[in-house]
Amino acid sequence: MALPVAEWRGRTARLWAALDPALRERLAAASLHDAVRLGCDLLRTEEEAEAALVQLCRRAATDKKPEAASWYREQGNREFKRGQYQAALRLYSKVCLEDIARAESHGYPDRLLPKVLLRKAECLLCLGRLQDAQDLLRALESKIALDGVMTTHLTRLKKLSQLKVKLGEKERCPEPAREARGGIQGEPEIWEENNRISGASSSLSLGFDAERGRHLVASQDIVPGQSLVKEEAFVSVLCPGESLPLQDGDTAWDTGATNADLYCHRCLRQLLASVPCQGCSYAKYCSQDCADMAWQQYHRTECSLGALLLTLGVFCHVALRTVLLAGFAEVSRLVAWSHRGDKSLQNPEARCKPLSEAADAGAGSRGVPGCDSRGRYQSSYQALFHLLPHTEQHSPEHKFLCTLSVVAICKQLQAAGLEAAVLSQELPQPQSKPKTCENTSDGLSPELKTVAEAMLRHVLQLQCNAQAITVMQELGPGDGAVVDKKPVRLATAFFPVLSLLNHSCCPNTSVSFSGTAATVRASQPISSGQEVLHCYGPHWCRMRVAERQQLLSQYFFECRCPACLEELESGVKSVVSIRNSFCCPKCQAQMQGEEDTLCCSNEACATSASRDHLSGRLQDLQQQIKKALGLLRVGKADQAIKMLLKCQMDAGTFLSPEHLLMGEMEDHLAQVYATLGKWQEAARHLKKSIEIVEMHHGPSSVETGHELFKLAQILFNGFAVSEALSTIQRAEGILSVHFGPQNAQIQELQEMKACLSELPRNILQRT
Ligand SMILES: [Zn+2]
Ligand SMILES: [Zn+2]
Ligand SMILES: [Zn+2]
Ligand SMILES: [Zn+2]
Repeated sequence: MALPVAEWRGRTARLWAALDPALRERLAAASLHDAVRLGCDLLRTEEEAEAALVQLCRRAATDKKPEAASWYREQGNREFKRGQYQAALRLYSKVCLEDIARAESHGYPDRLLPKVLLRKAECLLCLGRLQDAQDLLRALESKIALDGVMTTHLTRLKKLSQLKVKLGEKERCPEPAREARGGIQGEPEIWEENNRISGASSSLSLGFDAERGRHLVASQDIVPGQSLVKEEAFVSVLCPGESLPLQDGDTAWDTGATNADLYCHRCLRQLLASVPCQGCSYAKYCSQDCADMAWQQYHRTECSLGALLLTLGVFCHVALRTVLLAGFAEVSRLVAWSHRGDKSLQNPEARCKPLSEAADAGAGSRGVPGCDSRGRYQSSYQALFHLLPHTEQHSPEHKFLCTLSVVAICKQLQAAGLEAAVLSQELPQPQSKPKTCENTSDGLSPELKTVAEAMLRHVLQLQCNAQAITVMQELGPGDGAVVDKKPVRLATAFFPVLSLLNHSCCPNTSVSFSGTAATVRASQPISSGQEVLHCYGPHWCRMRVAERQQLLSQYFFECRCPACLEELESGVKSVVSIRNSFCCPKCQAQMQGEEDTLCCSNEACATSASRDHLSGRLQDLQQQIKKALGLLRVGKADQAIKMLLKCQMDAGTFLSPEHLLMGEMEDHLAQVYATLGKWQEAARHLKKSIEIVEMHHGPSSVETGHELFKLAQILFNGFAVSEALSTIQRAEGILSVHFGPQNAQIQELQEMKACLSELPRNILQRT
């Protein structure tokens, strides 16, 4: 979660309400500098609040539990035997090599070590994730070689070689695809970097005015699919994420695998054989290199603070990691500069004025904030520092919560003896500059107050500038035939260059991620002079204007994009409300009305119904669909089909045929038929789902691309060769515009294409 846990939010809200009104006023008007000072004084006298925070942290325990490893392994084996490979894989993911090694020293028997990894490799094989299986086997081989205890591992080695044979068999089909990749799609993209903005294309230029602030404009005509920004996150923090429940019932351990179990804490790559931090249970890495680098850069400071950071939320964590990465020297330089230039930072007009001596340190020679002295904008701490914190627009309660939270972190740093590590981050030996804490009774040292002030600024900036890093995560039982994927939030990050893009509910770009790197591509033609825009979340296809404006209010601006203007001014109903409407139970015409009672749009019919009643039916329907999917998860496909068909019948009596839920049901049916190997039925249902998705999101949208990808898999499996080929073509065209030619899904499509073209001619002629 981005913000602190609810209990801490509640506690600070009560504290705020009980404050002396004069103090409340002072806090509300305080600069970041004064807010930190007042926050320190407050937290010192409010011992109860601090004690409550300590209590809350106990729940987010991040210390090691050695016996957990063997428990996860046993549960994983159970799922493996039931053929639930996806579930088994998640459980095995919670087991790290070193955890098992540690469990051994607690009296748990050996023999478990590489076995878990072998099982994991088998799961990956069964799921069709050949590359991952291969990488894991390679890691395992070197591990076994390293241990050197060959005799006890003989049987395992035999198993390993068996698996490699299986892998070889599975790979035979996609092999020719590697060579076929040299084709049109495999060509490197044209990329020329802008010489004024690092990470941006030379077809863009940086603009600045009072209304739009900093923004990017096309300086020449741009074609769909062209890369516009390629940027590595300045800082990113893996979101702990919701755990994916694997089974019902109470257990001693959390059986859900979370982001923290599945992705590298530092580089966000998927974990295969994970290397856990020696000091805590929440940081896991893809390699020793990542573990060492993270330790050096920030984790040696963060490690013992795990529970506190989980309790106070990802925004606070990003703020801390930002100052650790920037180094204290840079942090104190910019904080000092902000005190001198406070006014010019808050007032956009002032930033355009000729430069004063003070502005030279921060604002850069061209007057665009964040640029360096040569007028160049790059992904630096200086650029990040200049993102707007909107200090005056945040509610005073929110500022109060953020202040107390960052002060609590800094106090903890001081108490844990980590102050030296924070202040001399750039020095190789943290102990080389010992620092005595003279101010333990008096709150924070002046240096930590500077750190707290910078952190407070970053937490406030995040509300407008946090960029979610998302990945496509596999859903469902995942038997390998058809892979259903859904985007999930993986991390929260600062991207100073990406932050130059303003929002539109109908953007002309699309963003994708690989590890911690973002790529922005044009999703439609952009002509020279047009602004390049990016959607912060509320897209016109997914939300009505009122919902969008509500969501956008957190960014402190009113959207004036064409979609918003049209819906607001001409009273045009949004596509969402037209398509996701109820229909008349009697004549199936659309139901109308903004009030509690809806009326049939067919005048001759005149049926009316209460909105609450219809909404209730919709909720019941969603519950039923969930149940049906539950049946599918436990392998009762036939019952799932029956239930979904019943849901469809029911939905037809009160939802419009274009309702998104109608499409979702078709999609689920396709999924169930695919698990049964009934490819024709699966394709039939999926095509209906695609029609509805196209209607809502447009024929060249990411959503349509993903649906076509699924259809291609189904047609491929059902040997519907010519139709599969044309679907692959369409999916490839759409997905490459959004994700570029290197995307994993596109590679998969090309492998399918190569595989189909290798088929003997007589099979091809039959279809
Ligand atoms: Zn890594
Ligand atoms: Zn750690
Ligand atoms: Zn808009
Ligand atoms: Zn009617």
